[in-house]
Amino acid sequence: MNIVLFGPPGAGKGTQASVLSEWYGLLHISTGDMLREAVKKGTMVGRQAKAYMDKGELVPDNIVINIVTERISQKDAKCGFLLDGFPRNKRQADQFDQALCKKGKKIDMVLYFKTSPEVSIRRLSGRRVCTNCGANFHIETMPAKLKGTCDYCHSLLIHRKDDQRGTVQNRLVVYKKETNYLIGYYKDKGILREVSGDLKVKELFEKIKRLFAKEGLRGVA
Ligand code: AMP
Repeated sequence: MNIVLFGPPGAGKGTQASVLSEWYGLLHISTGDMLREAVKKGTMVGRQAKAYMDKGELVPDNIVINIVTERISQKDAKCGFLLDGFPRNKRQADQFDQALCKKGKKIDMVLYFKTSPEVSIRRLSGRRVCTNCGANFHIETMPAKLKGTCDYCHSLLIHRKDDQRGTVQNRLVVYKKETNYLIGYYKDKGILREVSGDLKVKELFEKIKRLFAKEGLRGVA
């Protein structure tokens, strides 16, 4: 099963993707994580993407389409994947559909996390991320045991530059302008399902499990 987790920044897609990928044995592919890794390593892609990411703008389509199509061609994507943060506009959606079609694959479901802007802003502005393992915390709802330090690998936690208020607002504007359109696009294809991204992590996970069960998807964990 190939699933797209769709919704605005701060909808909780990444958090759900981590648990869902384990529960259902699906590969979690996050374009945001892949791009941040490329920036960290200073690769050509990272150097091209950084300025866009810092401003909360979309990285050029050809860059993201390439990294995603390359990633889904790898062996570990064979049993299905959960895409998080892609596609983000019509061009990405169209080109991705074509690339999948060439491989005899398709998107089976798009799970839309309908989320209010207040919740998105509160989540992102309170989010702290581990500089080493990438684990996420939240200063109010999921604080680290020791302030500023990762519970898992004891590395430094940071407030991502693009999670700061001004950039968060721009990311939401970009979402509305470019990405929101895809709700209708996938609805017309009959593969859009909706959950509330405003729910708490565990509650939402249970909701998604029930929805997936109705779609015939069983856990492997
Ligand atoms: P995310 O962690 O998914 O919010 O992504 C962080 C940033 O990476 C975004 O604000 C964009 O600059 C870039 N990015 C991630 N996914 C995409 C995509 N599908 N298309 C263009 N830019 C992306």
